[in-house]
Amino acid sequence: MSASLAPYAAQESQSRGRRYKEEPSVYRGEYQRDRDRIIHSTAFRRLMYKTQVFVNHEGDLYRTRLTHSLEVAQIGRTIAVALQLNEALAEAICLAHDLGHTPFGHAGQDTLNACMHDYGGFEHNLQSLRVVDVLEVKYADFPGLNLMFETREGILKHCSARNARMLGDVGERFLQRKQPGLEAQLANIADAIAYNNHDVDDGYRAGLLSLEQLRQQPLFGDRLDTVQKRYPDLDDRRLIYEVIRRMIGSVVTDLIEETRRRIKSVAPQSIDSVRDAGVPLVAMSDAMHEQHSALKKFLHRHLYSHEKKLAMTREVQAIVKDLFTAYMDDASLMPEEFTEAARNAEGSDRARVVADFIAGMTDRYAIAAHETISG
Ligand code: MG
Repeated sequence: MSASLAPYAAQESQSRGRRYKEEPSVYRGEYQRDRDRIIHSTAFRRLMYKTQVFVNHEGDLYRTRLTHSLEVAQIGRTIAVALQLNEALAEAICLAHDLGHTPFGHAGQDTLNACMHDYGGFEHNLQSLRVVDVLEVKYADFPGLNLMFETREGILKHCSARNARMLGDVGERFLQRKQPGLEAQLANIADAIAYNNHDVDDGYRAGLLSLEQLRQQPLFGDRLDTVQKRYPDLDDRRLIYEVIRRMIGSVVTDLIEETRRRIKSVAPQSIDSVRDAGVPLVAMSDAMHEQHSALKKFLHRHLYSHEKKLAMTREVQAIVKDLFTAYMDDASLMPEEFTEAARNAEGSDRARVVADFIAGMTDRYAIAAHETISG
């Protein structure tokens, strides 16, 4: 056991390992290796041109899936270190969590899911696992990135019973109603902390959210009061950031303290006792959870469903739908490898090839491909 890790952290010595056996690295830990493989993956580079909330060409300062993933990893690492968890594993899960995301954010995901309705559906979370297990083509000896079990366990945040049965080892916990390790639990929450905060920033910058609206949200409003009292003449750009950094700080501090309390009461002695604990141990206090969820609901109502966002949503829905129909009708419109795979498949398997191709697209690639098929 590593001396700096808590007993309930993921330990390499207790890992369920990789699907294909590999020689250990001389100077890197196995979870570090996973993180490095993720950073070197093609899917990771594509995140740069995939929408988080604002479509890539709407402006250069908005978050993309790549900068979102980096912010998730930053928050995740802070929490991991504070709780003496496995930092490299937490970072790997955070960086990989959105690898399977479609172009055009949730509008893209929902549309592709609707297109795949009769073929088993499409879920970006499951797709992230598919990217690291199957779709990355890099190594001579195995498909995918051959990541450690705990990294894959963390990437698969949720999963239907039907899919869980097909996934084998990594799906088991959904059938047995077990928890994942703490690094996976914290990555999940770090994702929510990151987007709740950066979407306030991006929404405000885009002019879709106002300070007066945001002030109504206790998580934002309380910190706004503090900052305005201390710096009455602060310009808006600094003001909004001073509020956001305090929001992140408060939520992360609360999360660490509440998680410490829960760990203390359950006293898990290994990652397996974390899995058997029945409830997640990484959690915010009830009071903070309420404020955080309220902000999330507020963003759904006022930012993600903003009329200006919805106009863009309708546009991208049409793009994804048209691409799906076109490739299902004529697989030879796809690049060689996908055409080939589709030719050798039928029914749902054939649709899955098309979904893999579309899900892998960046926003601008999808827009260009749409122009091509529409002549
Ligand atoms: Mg995310």
